[in-house]
Amino acid sequence: MEQITVLGATGSIGVSTLDVLARHRDRYQVYALTASSRWQLLAEQVLEHRPRYAVMSDAAAAEALRESLSTTDCTTEVLAGEQALVEVASASCVDTVMAAIVGAAGLLPSFAAVESGKKVLLANKEVLVMAGGLFMAEARRSGAEILPIDSEHNAIFQCLPLQKALAAGCELDSLGVRKILLTASGGPFRDTPLVDLAQVTPEQACAHPNWDMGQKISVDSATMMNKGLELIEACWLFNCSADDIEVLIHPQSVIHSMVEYVDGSVLAQLGNPDMRTPIAHALGWPERVASGVASLDMVAAARLDFGAPDYERFPCLQLAQQAASMGRTAPAVLNAANEVAVAAFLRGELAFTDIAEVNKRVLLAAHLTEPVDLDVVQLADTEARQHAQRLIVAGLS
Ligand code: NAD
Ligand code: MG
Repeated sequence: MEQITVLGATGSIGVSTLDVLARHRDRYQVYALTASSRWQLLAEQVLEHRPRYAVMSDAAAAEALRESLSTTDCTTEVLAGEQALVEVASASCVDTVMAAIVGAAGLLPSFAAVESGKKVLLANKEVLVMAGGLFMAEARRSGAEILPIDSEHNAIFQCLPLQKALAAGCELDSLGVRKILLTASGGPFRDTPLVDLAQVTPEQACAHPNWDMGQKISVDSATMMNKGLELIEACWLFNCSADDIEVLIHPQSVIHSMVEYVDGSVLAQLGNPDMRTPIAHALGWPERVASGVASLDMVAAARLDFGAPDYERFPCLQLAQQAASMGRTAPAVLNAANEVAVAAFLRGELAFTDIAEVNKRVLLAAHLTEPVDLDVVQLADTEARQHAQRLIVAGLS
């Protein structure tokens, strides 16, 4: 039995992961489930999957979970705090870790999983944006296998030659790859008149046309910062540069990304927009396991459209491309500013269009350094958060 820790079990990816795991109880055993504060949902998940440990990063929520489980026959031990997240991500009996915490909060537990040589199913793209060089180097040292869960990266992984998966460090052009086509739906505001964007609400921003996701990534999809973060994520995962990647708007989200070869062949991975497909792919890899996802109805899909991204509408995408070429701690700075700006937008304290403005000002003012270790990355993250917060409090005019 493969022992699995699910970091971020109560989130959108966590719930989809448990759905796939429940279909294969003969193959996978849940070792630990973690969440930040939603202890009631975690309690239900614990009662269904009976892990050895349940971890709440919030101490009061951990106490509530402990109390609620004490009235049942469940023997799961409840732990609290970040150190416990790191422990269940790196415990020696764990084979596989689903890294599905949102944002920089996942940095230490995700890194602990890589450091201890696990098979790491990586959904938490922000940690690769912040510290991709350190993650990939650590994976090479420890023998950890990083399998992408982000649907685009999972699609690219499936379209690349097998040698690429087996030798993560090799160059794409040595495999005959000409470029990667990273697809994007364009989110809920793809056709909204530009003058209306300043007034859009969090509810509208979170109503993604094709995917049902957590709030933060939904807002990132609406600004296309998500695609910017994914561009940086792809550079690390596939050992290439931003110039090797073309971002393509594809509103239907049927093609999840493509790889073009020097002979003109373009390979694409298609499927319904349901994260259980990439999750099952990575769980089973190199075998295939059922995910519960329905067959893709090509007749119903009928047509697939493509277009180029519009930087006036999506300035965050351009900022991410800029951060990728600036290198050093620029991606970590941009990510931190964006997390603060998105949280302020969700609280109703920042206009949608000011997310890009905060990100830009913080990125351009930052003192960049070489991300030689996680402390450097965390310092850049903290300073960028403070700067973003000051801008939001002071107002941007
Ligand atoms: P979500 O908001 O639905 O869930 C986030 C999870 O992280 C929850 O379980 C929450 O308890 C936990 N968490 C939040 N803050 C925490 C903290 N401070 N400490 C510990 N745990 C904390 O998010 P999601 O949509 O499931 O996304 C998770 C990650 O996967 C993100 O990085 C996102 O970009 C990536 N991703 C998601 C999707 C999707 O379809 N939802 C697709 C691709 C990539
Ligand atoms: Mg994605």
